[in-house]
Amino acid sequence: MRKRAIAGTAAGAAGAVGAAYWFMMSPYSQALGRFPYRGPAAERTVALTFDDGPNEPYTSQLADYLDDQDIRATFFQVGKAVQRHPDVTNRLVSTGHVVGLHGYTHEFTQYLRRRTLADELDRGMGAFAELGIRPTLYRPPWLLRIPALPGLLQEHGLDVVSGEFCHLLEVAQPSPQRMAAQAFRVARPGSIVIFHDGWDGKSADRAATVEAVRLLVPRLRAQGYTFTTVDKLLGLAV
Ligand SMILES: [Zn+2]
Repeated sequence: MRKRAIAGTAAGAAGAVGAAYWFMMSPYSQALGRFPYRGPAAERTVALTFDDGPNEPYTSQLADYLDDQDIRATFFQVGKAVQRHPDVTNRLVSTGHVVGLHGYTHEFTQYLRRRTLADELDRGMGAFAELGIRPTLYRPPWLLRIPALPGLLQEHGLDVVSGEFCHLLEVAQPSPQRMAAQAFRVARPGSIVIFHDGWDGKSADRAATVEAVRLLVPRLRAQGYTFTTVDKLLGLAV
C-alpha cells in the first residue's frame, strides 16, 4: 500500500511538473499570452534564429556565411555577452540582421520573479543601449514566462517570440548532419527555427551548429525556401 501511495505521489508530482513546464516553458503554450512560434504559412519562408550569443568565433562565422548567402537572420542575445563582444553585435545590426533581447544573465532563477525579471530586462536593454541599439523582440531564456512578463514587455516596447528547436539535443552538439536533418524536418512554411550560437550566455563550442546551418540552407533553398527575419515574418517590422 505504502509503495503504491509513494508511486502515486511521484506520478502526481511528475504530472504537476509537466503541467508547470507546459504552462511556463513550452515553445507552444499560449497560456501566458500570445507566444508566436511560427508565422503565416502562405509562403515558403523561414526565419533562422540564434540564441545565447554573441559567442566567438561562432557568431562571426555564422554572420560570414549568412552575409555571403545574402540571408538576414535574427539573433537573440544575452546582455552580458553583448558587453563582452560589442563589435559582433554592431556588425550584425550594420549588415541588416535583427538582434533581439535574451535577458542579461541568462540565469534560470532570475526569470521566476517579477523583480528579478524586471532587472534582467532593464540591464539587458541597457547593454544594447550602450551601442545605440533598441531591440523590439524578446525571447525568454529557457522560454520561461511568468504572468508578470507581458506587462513588463509592454513597458519596454518588446514583442515576445517563441520558435521551434532545430534539434532537442543541440546543447550536446550532435553531428552537423544530424542537426541539419532534424532542422530540415522541423522547417515548414512560416517556421521560426531556434539554433544556439552560444550557451547560457557563456563561451561554448558551437562549431557543429555553424556547420549544420551551412548544410541546412542549401537543402531548404533546393525546396524553394527563402529566409527572413522574425519581425518581418510576423509582420512586426516598423
Ligand atoms: Zn538561451
